[in-house]
Amino acid sequence: MIEAARIVRVHAREVLDSRGQPTVEVEVECQGGLLGRAIVPAGASAGTHEAVELRDGDPRHFDGKGVLRAVRHVREILGPALLHQFVTDQADIDRILCELDGTPNKSRLGANAILGVSLAVAHAAAAVKGVPLWQSLAQGHARMPLPMVNLISGGKHAGGQLDFQDYLLLPIGAKTYSQALHWTVTVYRTLGRLLTRAGHEGVLVGDEGGYGPKLADNEQALQFIVDAIDAAGLRPGIDAAIALDVAATHFYHADSATYHWRRGNQTLTAQAMIDHLEQLVERYPIFSIEDGLAEDDWAGWKQLTDRLGKKVQLIGDDLFVTHPARLQRGIASGVANAVLVKPNQIGTLSETCQVVRLAQSAGYRTIISARSGETEDTTIADLAVALGAGQIKIGSVARSERLAKYNQLLRIEERFPTPSEFAAWQPLG
Ligand code: PGA
Ligand code: ZN
Repeated sequence: MIEAARIVRVHAREVLDSRGQPTVEVEVECQGGLLGRAIVPAGASAGTHEAVELRDGDPRHFDGKGVLRAVRHVREILGPALLHQFVTDQADIDRILCELDGTPNKSRLGANAILGVSLAVAHAAAAVKGVPLWQSLAQGHARMPLPMVNLISGGKHAGGQLDFQDYLLLPIGAKTYSQALHWTVTVYRTLGRLLTRAGHEGVLVGDEGGYGPKLADNEQALQFIVDAIDAAGLRPGIDAAIALDVAATHFYHADSATYHWRRGNQTLTAQAMIDHLEQLVERYPIFSIEDGLAEDDWAGWKQLTDRLGKKVQLIGDDLFVTHPARLQRGIASGVANAVLVKPNQIGTLSETCQVVRLAQSAGYRTIISARSGETEDTTIADLAVALGAGQIKIGSVARSERLAKYNQLLRIEERFPTPSEFAAWQPLG
């Protein structure tokens, strides 16, 4: 029977991501010659508690960013251990990969090596079953996700001076995925025109394709987006809302427990940050805030959730790092109400799915997410559909490593054409 195909070859190589940085590509071949391939993404504003991305540190090879050690670990350790395993035994395979590494954060063999194998196995299993990846991974309630799409980039992803990392569009009134995407493209283009007209000549795009204008402050960015929604013929707060990724970890100073704006030498306590975010929510149609506070500021996060959690989606990214134990802590203590899910933060497909199930059973929302360093790999598009995750965050509607995923979702949508199979926005509370 074809579903019982065994793994006969595992190969890895160093390829390049959307920033021109090395990353790991893995191929898994089964009996009968069927193949699965995956490429691992990479973050720039990574959380401290993420699984370890192994880089060579050899200055003569890509300034130390090479991944030849991780590649070697696939070729010499992980791959050989999987020979003759049934490719469809994803859970067993992921367990073997974790055991071979033997550390809690995959620091010995590298989460980049391990995830590459794990995802390539999933692709090979789908090929063996003769079905699309989303179908091979589906766990009951597959549906199209609502995208949240980067419009303006700041923080570590762009050269401007905005403190918040992402200003995103949340097309809350859309009835289907393709309508959400179409609206977003319209707003993105309109925003580009408004920025140019306001003198931000030749607005360059950041790592994720969002505009990177040199705006005065966060509020100016928010106002531009409201104006763009309006000018695109949509109703702010009804058809389309704003989502923020504050990425506060990256301007938090643990020694003084304060948040530092880039300009004006302004420092804010967690309390002042919460006040500020609350004011922004009152003034602008902001429906979702990611990493509003830093990764280990659990006390601040609790206050933030008590203050805003009934009306705003509060997403933990650096806070939870797709880790079941950290998410469990958040659920137990009433911190956040949503989790960003990035497979390379944890390192295997099975653990990624486990985090999504844990969140879903606790009533937390799940947003499957790309990294700022991406490739043509589209695995997360299928994953978001398969797990019924509800939302997906890929970056902007520019740059092909982003569009590859949006386009994959358009292909998948042909199988889920009706609004009832789309995760339309649900108000909180
Ligand atoms: P990263 O950022 O991929 O650079 O870590 C993405 C995010 O913070 O959501
Ligand atoms: Zn984030």
